[in-house]
Amino acid sequence: MKAGREARATFLPPLDTMARMSEPTIPPHNSDPSPAGRVRALNFIEHIIEDDNAARKWGVDDQGNPKVHTRFPPEPNGYLHIGHAKSICLNSGLAKRFGGAFNLRFDDTNPAKEEQEYVDAIIDDVRWLTNDHQGYRFGGVFWASDYFEQMYAWAVELIRKGRAYVCDLSADEVSKRRGSVGVPATSPFRDRATEESLRLFAEMREGKHPNGSKSLRAKIDLASPNFVLRDPVMYRILHEAHHNTGNKWCIYPMYDWAHGGEDSLEGITHSICTLEFRNNRPLYDWFIDSINLGRGPGGGAGSESSTPIHHPQQIEFARLNLTYTVMSKRFLLALVKEGRVSGWDDPRMPTIRGLRRRGVPAAALRSFCEEIGVTTQESMIDVGRFENAVRDTLNKTAPRAMCVIDPLPVTITNWPEGTVDELDFVINPEDASAGVRKVPFSKEIFIEREDFMEVAPKKFFRLAPGQEVRLRWAYFITCTGVEKDAAGNIIRVLATYDPATRGGDSPKGPDGLPTKKVKGTLHWISAAAHTKGRVRLFDRLFSASEPGSRTGNQLDDLNPNSLNEVDALLDSVVAAAPAGTGFQFERLGYFYVDTDSTSERPVLNRTVTLKDTWAKVSAAG
Ligand code: ATP
Ligand code: MG
Repeated sequence: MKAGREARATFLPPLDTMARMSEPTIPPHNSDPSPAGRVRALNFIEHIIEDDNAARKWGVDDQGNPKVHTRFPPEPNGYLHIGHAKSICLNSGLAKRFGGAFNLRFDDTNPAKEEQEYVDAIIDDVRWLTNDHQGYRFGGVFWASDYFEQMYAWAVELIRKGRAYVCDLSADEVSKRRGSVGVPATSPFRDRATEESLRLFAEMREGKHPNGSKSLRAKIDLASPNFVLRDPVMYRILHEAHHNTGNKWCIYPMYDWAHGGEDSLEGITHSICTLEFRNNRPLYDWFIDSINLGRGPGGGAGSESSTPIHHPQQIEFARLNLTYTVMSKRFLLALVKEGRVSGWDDPRMPTIRGLRRRGVPAAALRSFCEEIGVTTQESMIDVGRFENAVRDTLNKTAPRAMCVIDPLPVTITNWPEGTVDELDFVINPEDASAGVRKVPFSKEIFIEREDFMEVAPKKFFRLAPGQEVRLRWAYFITCTGVEKDAAGNIIRVLATYDPATRGGDSPKGPDGLPTKKVKGTLHWISAAAHTKGRVRLFDRLFSASEPGSRTGNQLDDLNPNSLNEVDALLDSVVAAAPAGTGFQFERLGYFYVDTDSTSERPVLNRTVTLKDTWAKVSAAG
C-alpha cells in the first residue's frame, strides 16, 4: 500500500466529505453570473443550466444563488491528457459562469491499477489548468473510496428491497449467458432468497469467498434491449489492497454502481460525461431510484435512513478528438513503457504534463477549449486550431529574444574596430509595458545560414550580394561579398551597414517619409555576446492525421522524426532564465526553457512555430 492518505493530508482539507462540501476552500467565487460579460452564444449545457436555475430545480446556496455543482472524476490510472483538459475546463468553467462549485473526485474504485504518482500529478495538473483563482469555487478533492462503507450499506438496502442478488456465476459465465438481441440473458441465481443473498454478501465482504467466485448483481431486466440493464454486476470479489482503504475491503464496487452514488453524495447537480455513457444513464437513474424506493415521508423501507438521496442530472457531450493525436491513457502508458517517448512529460505527448513542459500556457488550453465549444456531435478537431490558440496566447505574453540555429558569420566591414553599440531591443511589441533591454551590436555577428543565398531567386528578400536587409532592432546592412573555404563553401558574408538606420528604421526625408525601403528583416546575434545551447524542434508525434486508420495499429503511424535536437546560439538573456521561462525567438517560434537546462548549457523546447512567411511567399510563386 502506498503512503497515500498521509501525503494527501498535508495539502488537502480533512476528508469528512459532507462537512467539506459546504466550505469554500479557494477564493470567493464570482457571484455575479450575469450575462453582461458574455461574448458568445450559450452552449447546450449552459442552456440547460439556465433553465434549471430559472426553475430553482436544485435549490439555492446560502447566498440565495441557484445551486450549480460540477465535478471532474478521473480514474487515477495515468496522467491527464488534452481530452481531460476539455472536461476540466468545461466543468470548472460552468461553475465559474454560474457562481457554482467544482469538485475534483478520484474514481479510485479499482485497487489494481492506481498509483499515488498519478494522484499527485492529477491534482497538480487540475490546479495548474484551473489556476485556482479563475473565479469558480473549488469544492475540494474527493475520493470514491471514502464512500465504500456508504455504498455497501446502499447495496444491502437494494438486496433487502429485492433489487439485487448474489450470483455464483464467474465473469466468463456471466458474459456467455449475456444473450443477444431478442434473446434474454440468464442466471440460475436470480431468484435466490433475499436472506441468502444478504448472508452471502456479508460473507463476501468478510473474505470468505475467493476472487471471482461470486458477485452482487442488480436485479433489473435480463431481457432489456439495453444490455447495460441486463442485471449488471455491482460488486466483485478482489482480494487486493487499495491505496486508500488498505486491506479493509476485498469486495470492490463496479464503476457503474459507484459513479452515480458518488455524484449524489457530493450534491453534484449537473453530472457531465462523454457520449459513450448515454446508454448507462438509465442504469444510473435506476440505481438512485432503487435506493430512494420507499424512502421519504411515510416511507422507511427498513433501511438505515428514510431520507431520499440526491438524484443528479446526467448530461452527455462529445469527447474531444484531435488530428495527429492519440489520447487513450492505455496507449500513452505503452509509449512511455516501451521507451518511445522520454516519459509522460515528454513535450511531444498530448498529456497536460507534456504540454506544460513544452511551454503551453494554461490560458491557451482554456481558450482552445472555449473556442471549440461543446456539442453532442462526434467530430475531429484540427490540431492546428490548438496550435493557433497557443500562438495567440503567447504572442501577447512572451518576451522576444534572438536565437540563431544554423549560424553563418557576417563581418560588417565598415564597422569601427573594437566598438560595441548598445541597442534598444523591444521586449514585446504587443505589450508596451514590457519595455526595452540593451543588446550589444558589434563587427562580428551571426545570421541564419538559410537567410543568405549567393544566387538568389527574384522573390528572395533576405540577404544576397548587392541586396539590403534590416537586422531586427539594429541596422540595415548590404551584402558586399562572401568568403569561401577551399571546397567552395561559404564561410563568411561581408557586408556594410548604414549608420543612418540605427534602431532598424530607414532615415526620413524632408517630407517625413522613409528614404529607403527594405523587404526583409532578419534575426541575428552578436559574436561578442551569446551563449551556446540546445533547442528541441518538434514535429508531430504521429505522421498521420488519424493514427492507426491505415493499418489498425497506431504505432505504425508514429513519426520517426518527431524530435530534432540541435545546437543553437542564444541571446544571453536566455542563458540567465530559469526552467519554465518562455520566449519568442524572432522568426523561429515560441520556446520554453526545459528542466534539463543549466546556465552553462541552456536547453529549450520549441512550443510552436510562428507562421512561416517564406513558405507562404514561395508557395504563392
Ligand atoms: P482515456 O479513455 O483517455 O483512457 P478515460 O475516459 O478512461 O480516459 P477517466 O479518468 O475516466 O479517463 O476520465 C475522466 C473524465 O475525463 C471523464 O469524465 C471523461 O468523460 C473525461 N474525458 C476523458 N477523455 C476525454 C476527451 N477526449 N474529451 C472530453 N472528455 C474526456
Ligand atoms: Mg473512463
